[in-house]
Amino acid sequence: MLDLGIKGRRAIVCAASKGLGRACAMALGRAGAELTITARTAETLEQTAAEIRRETGAKVTVVAGDITTEAGRAATLAACPEPDILINNAGGPPHGDFRDWEIEDWQKAVNGNMLTPIMLIKATVDGMCARKFGRIVNITSASVKSPIPNLGMSNGARAGLTGFVGGLARQVARHNVTINGLLPGPFLTDRLRSGIEFEARRQNISFEEMLAKRSATNPTGRVGDPEEFGAACAFLCAASSGFIVGQNLLLDGGAYNSTMG
Ligand code: NAP
Repeated sequence: MLDLGIKGRRAIVCAASKGLGRACAMALGRAGAELTITARTAETLEQTAAEIRRETGAKVTVVAGDITTEAGRAATLAACPEPDILINNAGGPPHGDFRDWEIEDWQKAVNGNMLTPIMLIKATVDGMCARKFGRIVNITSASVKSPIPNLGMSNGARAGLTGFVGGLARQVARHNVTINGLLPGPFLTDRLRSGIEFEARRQNISFEEMLAKRSATNPTGRVGDPEEFGAACAFLCAASSGFIVGQNLLLDGGAYNSTMG
């Protein structure tokens, strides 16, 4: 396996008991990082930690809690006060029509998908700069680049994070600290599965038929495998990735149609 030069580096991976966060933790574990992983449900989190230890041999500490709360973040930082790697992730805001959303709905979305990563970056970035190594990856969404009509709060809150980080990334890069975004298109996680199940019921077809329909619309003819997402995350965290600064890498199988950028 390719040596990413991050053996023994301490990594916090937020919202990592399932899906994309789990895949990032697994890939970083394979690369030799020591992990602190979080999620709200202790049981699934413990189960994932055991799987990562078994598959990678990595040291894994678990912190059960809501990362979008101050208490959840404090517990995470107490378990890993000086991370070298920070993967920001949390659940996404709900679908819907913006006419139905009250200010509290927006505050929740902005808190979870913009302010939570910013607060974690604030708590960790200066230490990374002092130690001359840091890799921060924000898991956002393809919606940052190409807005999804019924995901207005995701489009808005994540674009806000991306804008802020675009500036900060250039201020910390000279200390070998990078901040980049990973933008998932459709990856087959529980979140996507439940969306496909919902649509299959609505169209009165099976899950498999709906998945095939969804896959056919992508240039690759399929949806993404979370492992592919984890591998891209580990690449951005590699010791040799210090010149990749303030970028937003779209992982969508080519669904966004453009010649470049
Ligand atoms: P998932 O399969 O549903 O997994 C979500 C993970 O996050 C679980 O481990 C969950 O555990 C944890 N989590 C959720 N809210 C949390 C919180 N407040 N604090 C701590 N942990 C929390 O979701 P996913 O597909 O990996 O999605 C991850 C992120 O990428 C989401 O923001 C999603 O909107 C975005 N995204 C995903 C896709 C896709 O195709 N999968 C596409 C675009 C964007 P607990 O429930 O136990 O906390």
